[in-house]
Amino acid sequence: MSGPQCIAIDGPAGSGKSTVGEKLARQLGYLYVDTGAMYRAVAWLALNNNVDIHDGAALGELAQHAEVVISHPFVADGRQYTVTVHGCDITWEIRNSRVTGAVSAVSAHPAVRRTLIAQQREMARQGRVVMVGRDIGAVVLPEAELKIYLTASLAERARRRHAELVARVGEGNSKVPSLSEIERDIERRDDIDHDNMRPAIDAVVIETDYLSVQQVLDAIAPYVEDTTV
Ligand code: C5P
Repeated sequence: MSGPQCIAIDGPAGSGKSTVGEKLARQLGYLYVDTGAMYRAVAWLALNNNVDIHDGAALGELAQHAEVVISHPFVADGRQYTVTVHGCDITWEIRNSRVTGAVSAVSAHPAVRRTLIAQQREMARQGRVVMVGRDIGAVVLPEAELKIYLTASLAERARRRHAELVARVGEGNSKVPSLSEIERDIERRDDIDHDNMRPAIDAVVIETDYLSVQQVLDAIAPYVEDTTV
């Protein structure tokens, strides 16, 4: 018996897709690929190499030549995976507010998307993959046997992001933006990401506002079983 070869999980920031995707991949023994990290790595490279985040051609070049590697965590500091660029560990740096502020503009360029989408398809070619993003089911892997689209209200998504940051750096730390700042930032990103974020027509849409991570996994489980051959 084998399960679905490719599981696509899409949704906006804070919808729970990374947490759910990583746990599901671990349960199934599948490769977990967070495509947001790939866009973030390109944004990080642009910022660190003074490449204009509005220059699509230059960013396309950068994405094409970037040696971004996403691998097993190796370091036990709460990370889901390790991200390196040209050998340099940028796992946490790609989560900072500078990168978060720039990534949507970077990812909006078709030249960047073309390159990263080709890499994502290559990563999924072997099968047994849970791929998480915004456009995986609709664009990257339209042939995926199972497509999940997670949603949640803006307020709930901001609350989750805030709680995540507090858990990582500590309550009262000046690095943690206020809840309303986080909400504004997510809303801004939703706006820019809008054109590249849509559920596939055959996606299972799960509203997660009142669900725990385990409840979302429980909701997905029957679909995984249904696609098991
Ligand atoms: O998921 P995460 O918030 O880390 O994604 C960061 C950004 O990368 C998103 O706001 C979006 O601009 C971009 N992205 C994308 N397509 C994907 C995954 C992420 O455009 N498949």
